[in-house]
Parts: sequence; structure tokens; C-alpha cells
Amino acid sequence: MRVFTGIQPSGDLHIGNYFGSIKAMVDSQAENEVFAFIANYHAMTTVQDGRRLSELTMQAATDFLALGIDPEKSTFWVQSDVKEVLELYWFLSSFTPMGLLERAHSYKDKVAKGISANHSLFAYPVLMAADILLYDVDVVPVGKDQIQHVEIARDIAIRFNNAYGDILKLPEFRVDENVATVPGIDGQKMSKSYGNTINIFGDEKAQLKTIKKIVTEAVPMEEPKEWRGCNVYNIAKLFLDEDECLALQERYERGGEGHGHFKLYLAEVIWEHFRPYREKRAYYEAHQDEVRDILKAGAAKASEAAREIMEKVRSVTGAAY
Ligand code: ATP
Ligand code: MG
Repeated sequence: MRVFTGIQPSGDLHIGNYFGSIKAMVDSQAENEVFAFIANYHAMTTVQDGRRLSELTMQAATDFLALGIDPEKSTFWVQSDVKEVLELYWFLSSFTPMGLLERAHSYKDKVAKGISANHSLFAYPVLMAADILLYDVDVVPVGKDQIQHVEIARDIAIRFNNAYGDILKLPEFRVDENVATVPGIDGQKMSKSYGNTINIFGDEKAQLKTIKKIVTEAVPMEEPKEWRGCNVYNIAKLFLDEDECLALQERYERGGEGHGHFKLYLAEVIWEHFRPYREKRAYYEAHQDEVRDILKAGAAKASEAAREIMEKVRSVTGAAY
């Protein structure tokens, strides 16, 4: 099966990205053909400093390699290295009703939060459809926030196929229900653009400072505390096995400890969890040319797959004359 995943280089990777998509992608490499890319065109909706974007792109690539994408097994590239994606994007645009995009949650949410919308933010789902449909993808593991975008990709593909025959493969989405939406330190969806993230590769002190800011209920130290619905607990449980979860629940219910203690525990759990990845990251950080070579080789592989589809698309649409 071909599994597809992408990440925007629009800021530091956070544990929402990790549990919502990166982990599933890494785990699925054992049995599937993984296509993973860095969505730098998408990031341009928010990052408009060229130097910053190129830095963030290399950073995301370094992070992904550290977290376990295996370039020998998988295809790993940067979106803008496969130009065909913009070509398909145009073909798909003619099969995308305005209403479909107007109903997109991520667009509506961002506008509602006062982030001013440009055309690329509005058209983001069409480019994402092109990202997926260009590579004959079977499955897209996503966080809950991206389900609708995969549905939009299907919808566009159906309309295209209705006009030209069975050319584009309809992708399925897959959501891990346990981690459907990782909450941020303010309890909203953790999101780079909301500034409420716990980063995967932060500095230890900064990490602790962030975790201390997690919003919790004010309950006196000695009293029992509610772990259900507690942001600290909800984040911690992602890293813990069943016994460890139960033990933490008991600590909440026993009383005598404040949320500060649980936060310290959470900080430690997160720090330990990513320790081996940090070490791998240090290697790639020191070998950025190797990272670039990996990306270029990945783009060559991705381009091959893309060319196959685009040949068909150009032919059926009459663009090839
Ligand atoms: P932005 O704020 O720029 O949209 P983001 O933090 O939401 O950034 P994306 O690059 O949009 O991150 O998403 C990358 C992947 O991570 C997607 O598959 C998305 O579903 C997943 N993801 C992002 N945030 C969360 C979250 N809080 N919980 C679970 N999955 C998430
Ligand atoms: Mg997002």
C-alpha cells in the first residue's frame, strides 16, 4: 500500500504533528511504501521570508530523518522539487467548486482567528489534493483536522474522473482515534500557528517553561484532582503505557500533589521519549549536505511517479495535442 504524509515547514515540529502523523508514518514504513514530503509551497501561505523558509525546510527535513523516516525504504522529498504538482493543481482547480473551499474548516478557523486570508490559504485544499493525487496514493494518515482536506481531495478526484475516466486514484484517510487531536498548552488544538505547542526538539529549559504554562484547574495542593479533561494528563497519556496511565491517575486522585508536580513529570517523560531521536538529530544537523542529497534523490523518485500520472492527465484533458 502506498501511504502518504506531509508536513509544513512553517515552524518547529510539535508533539501534535508527531502523534497525529509522523509516528504513524514512521511505523508504517515496515509494511508499506511511504511517500513523505515537506510542504514548502503550503508554508508560503504563512512564511514569506525566503531565508526563513529555506531554513525551516532544512530543519523539517532534519527533524523527519531524526524521527525515523528511512530514505532507503521511503520516498522523501521537498514539494517544490517536483514541479508537476503545480501543474496538476491547475487541472484540479477547474473541478473545485468555490463552495467546497468556502466550507473548509481550516480556512474558516484561521479567518475566524483573525489570520488574514490570501488566495493560497483559500486554495490550500486544491494544492493538497494535487499533492495526494499526483502519486497514486492509497492511504493518508492524518490528524482529525485534516480529514476534511482528504475528503476534498476525493471529491475533486471524483469530479475529474467523471469528466475524463478513471485516472486519479481515490485516497482513503486514516485517523488514530487515540490521538485524534492533541491539545495544546491552552487546551485548543495544538497548532504551530496558534503558538500553543510543545516542540519535539526544544531546548530542555524552554520546554519546561512551556509545560509549566499548560492551563490547569486551580485546586489546593492537598485535594484530589480530576485527571479527566486535564490538559497535562491528556498530553502525558500519549507517552504512557496503560500501567503508567493508571499510576498517574492515582496520583491525581490521591491529592497531596499539585499540578506543578504533574507538569514536572510530563516534562521528564517527554524529554526521555525523544532522547534517542535527539541524538540522531545531532548527527544530521552536523551533516546538512547529506540531508540535501537525500532530498534530491527522493525528489527524483517522486518525479518518476508524478510523470506517469501527468502523462495520462495531459493526454485525457487534451493538454497534449
Ligand atoms: P499550521 O498551524 O501551520 O496549520 P499545524 O501545527 O496544524 O500547522 P500541519 O503542518 O498543518 O501542522 O499538520 C501536519 C500534520 O500534523 C497533519 O497530519 C495534522 O493532521 C497533524 N496535526 C497537526 N496538529 C495536530 C494536533 N494538534 N493533533 C493531532 N494531529 C495534528
Ligand atoms: Mg494545520
